[in-house]
Amino acid sequence: MTKLSPQTVTELLARINIPDWQDEAHHREVHPVIAAATGDLICEVPVGTQPDVTAAFARARAEQAAWEATKVADRAKMMTKFAALVHDRRDELLDVIQTETGKARSHALEEVIDVMLVARFYASNAAEWLKPTPIPGLLPGLTKARVVRRPVGVVGVISPWNYPLSLSITDALAAIMAGNAVVLKPDSQTPLSALQIAVMLTDAGMPPGLLQLVTGSGSCVGTSIVEQCDYLMFTGSSATGKLLGGQIGNRLVGYSAELGGKNPMIVTEDVDIDTVADIITRACYSSAGQLCLSIERIYGVGKSYDRLLKVLPKRIKEMKLGTNTSWDTEMGSLSGPSQLETVSRHVDDAVAKGAKLLAGGKPRPELGPFFYEPTLLAEVPVEATCYREETFGPVVSLYPAADIAEAIELANDTRYGLNASVMCNDVAVAQDIAEQLNSGMVNINEGYAAAWSSLDGPSGGWGDSGIGVRHGKEGLLKYTRVKTIASQSTLMHLGGPSFLPRSLWASVLEQTSNQLRRLPGR
Ligand code: NAP
Repeated sequence: MTKLSPQTVTELLARINIPDWQDEAHHREVHPVIAAATGDLICEVPVGTQPDVTAAFARARAEQAAWEATKVADRAKMMTKFAALVHDRRDELLDVIQTETGKARSHALEEVIDVMLVARFYASNAAEWLKPTPIPGLLPGLTKARVVRRPVGVVGVISPWNYPLSLSITDALAAIMAGNAVVLKPDSQTPLSALQIAVMLTDAGMPPGLLQLVTGSGSCVGTSIVEQCDYLMFTGSSATGKLLGGQIGNRLVGYSAELGGKNPMIVTEDVDIDTVADIITRACYSSAGQLCLSIERIYGVGKSYDRLLKVLPKRIKEMKLGTNTSWDTEMGSLSGPSQLETVSRHVDDAVAKGAKLLAGGKPRPELGPFFYEPTLLAEVPVEATCYREETFGPVVSLYPAADIAEAIELANDTRYGLNASVMCNDVAVAQDIAEQLNSGMVNINEGYAAAWSSLDGPSGGWGDSGIGVRHGKEGLLKYTRVKTIASQSTLMHLGGPSFLPRSLWASVLEQTSNQLRRLPGR
């Protein structure tokens, strides 16, 4: 597995917006950043404090006004240059992601591609979406109206460790394109990817103060961001998302949360399992299952259940595992000890309660200190923790379904609703199943990437999987405030001419409003 040079690490640490933290006189508390593939210490980052966050907001606010005044076309130029830089320097990014997460290189590449696509998407569309929109006024010809948008100010972004590059920066990119500044808190476990991408944004011409990056704990730095931001974008667990929803609700500030999932896949009888086994394993084990969109439940309809039982364990056992930089590696390590503990606990609990282990089921310390095998379970009883709870690891449960209707019912039997997958050859049947699944995203004949990367479409969770969306037009416009400006002709002011008796004016108003109903859209 790749090693970061001391020079790279020093450059990254310099991007933390906690001035003078390396000055010994400040006696800063620090947090270790561990290489997931080896367990080695990479570096230590400062544990930010509430005054650090307040200072970061002050700097961000000072930068934001000038950025708001910058033409959207010029913001887009910077963003396009940034996307090109990400492409040119992708190896640096892949090295950092792999080092801190231990994931396979091909899975790290998904993050890099995501950042490029999102940057280009918002650079291409922001000007059109942000321009003032003329709307029909109350009285045609006499009332002229338009809707204008302004950035909210400073957006707070709190991100998790599993996709430390794309989930730290893509939401920030949309906020920045909309004219905002950002204060970002990456997960304590994985701050380096966020630091690396912040360097690239500055290299692309973004004013350095526009993105303030403060490391530290959720309970301190995170809370302080929640208390000061003009909009909060949170990605993480449903438990934290709910907690923050309560806190931010008290401030009447906009909030978007992308949370957990227990994502189902339905496999119909017309599918040749041999042909789609690769799609299924990628859907379940990408980033070692530490992907919010990852499939954790598979429902085999009718005969497909037996075929899945036959084909999948063999394919899973053949998967190429490792903590290396090979493009052929199909699954890497878990991100750290707490993930290893959760995954082991869920599997052991399911097996102890009667589940059958069809593949995997144990840690692989010879591959890495936090490595766990890709695991397939069957006959998981309802009492097992992993029946309903998100494992967030390489653990998938296989269930039979008598028919499609039962598969849909079982798939929808969850408090989550983030992502779902349908493996089915009949286009009409697949579309019909997709319509009936309670989920913010549905992928047909793919696990997660098709819906996620169709950037014009909003991406968000139902139920406990979140509130609000990222991507699409909404993913940018949520970082704006709207204002409707209407101007009324003085030829006909809305209080009515003073010479008319009020009763007559009331009657004119009533008749006019009736006539207006005949106009389209009224
Ligand atoms: P988490 O515990 O909720 O942590 C996520 C982030 O929130 C971290 O930066 C964390 O900081 C911070 N945080 C924790 N408590 C906080 C608080 N009280 N106030 C403010 N910030 C706080 O989530 P996780 O378990 O690490 O991440 C995995 C979860 O994220 C899974 O459930 C997964 O499904 C979900 N996820 C969802 C999506 C999506 O798009 N829907 C994407 C990826 C992951 P520290 O850890 O540094 O203290």
